[in-house]
Amino acid sequence: MKHVSSCNLCGSADSVFYCSKDSLSVVRCLKCGLIYSSEVRSHSEMKDHYSEDYFKPYLQTEALHARKRFRKRIKEIKRLRFPGSLLDIGCGAGFFLKLAADEGYNVSGVELSQWACEYARKTFALNVINGELKDAGFAPDTFDVITLWHIVEHVSDPVKFLMEVNRLLKKDGLLVVEVPNIRSVAAKLAGTNWELMAPKEHFFYFDLHTMSRLLQMTGFAVSGNRSYFWTTPGMVLRAKAGPKTGLSRLCLLFFALLIEVFSFLRFQPMPAFIQGDVITVYAFKTENVSGNTDEF
Ligand SMILES: [Zn+2]
Repeated sequence: MKHVSSCNLCGSADSVFYCSKDSLSVVRCLKCGLIYSSEVRSHSEMKDHYSEDYFKPYLQTEALHARKRFRKRIKEIKRLRFPGSLLDIGCGAGFFLKLAADEGYNVSGVELSQWACEYARKTFALNVINGELKDAGFAPDTFDVITLWHIVEHVSDPVKFLMEVNRLLKKDGLLVVEVPNIRSVAAKLAGTNWELMAPKEHFFYFDLHTMSRLLQMTGFAVSGNRSYFWTTPGMVLRAKAGPKTGLSRLCLLFFALLIEVFSFLRFQPMPAFIQGDVITVYAFKTENVSGNTDEF
């Protein structure tokens, strides 16, 4: 575990307490607004954390929802860049990679968890590399599309990580980044009980502003974004998100119900004040950036 003394985005050491959870402090940079855990762990330290126990509940309860979401995402990705080679970093059990392969992409995957890799290989016959991105041995300018589904919040140095992603993507290649949205109403209402506030494994908490800044710094131009809702009425009722009692819990339930109604009616675009608690950002590589990407 490494103590973080300065902001990954702007380098400033000035920060203010944001919250604490699981005996860890989360702070907000006073200069650029990035919210981050004051302790981070490297991929090698996290390797054992992403075990069968970590993935099994996901496979049982959330895989269906994830597949639904991925079907929407692949349509958008195909509209922006198709055909070509696609790399999914942190591909987990391989649901997205399988979908991308079926849609006609030439796919590759990297995954830290050995258990998830074996699941992807056995279930979907995917060729997935087990290990860290830096050890995968990909040549520069290899991929047309790179996807990062809920990965950037898990890495110990997002700037260096995105620089390595930049190196692997072709010029004008498409990068898709999806992360929890710390500025969402759900995150604010649920506070530390927001399910995605998890400083033991989520070291960084982005919003559209800080994610756009990260992408610009690492050689990408943002072309658009979408958001969706992780927090559902069911989660609030099962006390998975939000305080157990009180007005904020009631507000969160009302908010989650409102979202369901908007989604059911296929209301597009969503009103600006209802920003989902997960954001997907689409960006294109505009330039090569260089730097020491040995450790992230
Ligand atoms: Zn900062």
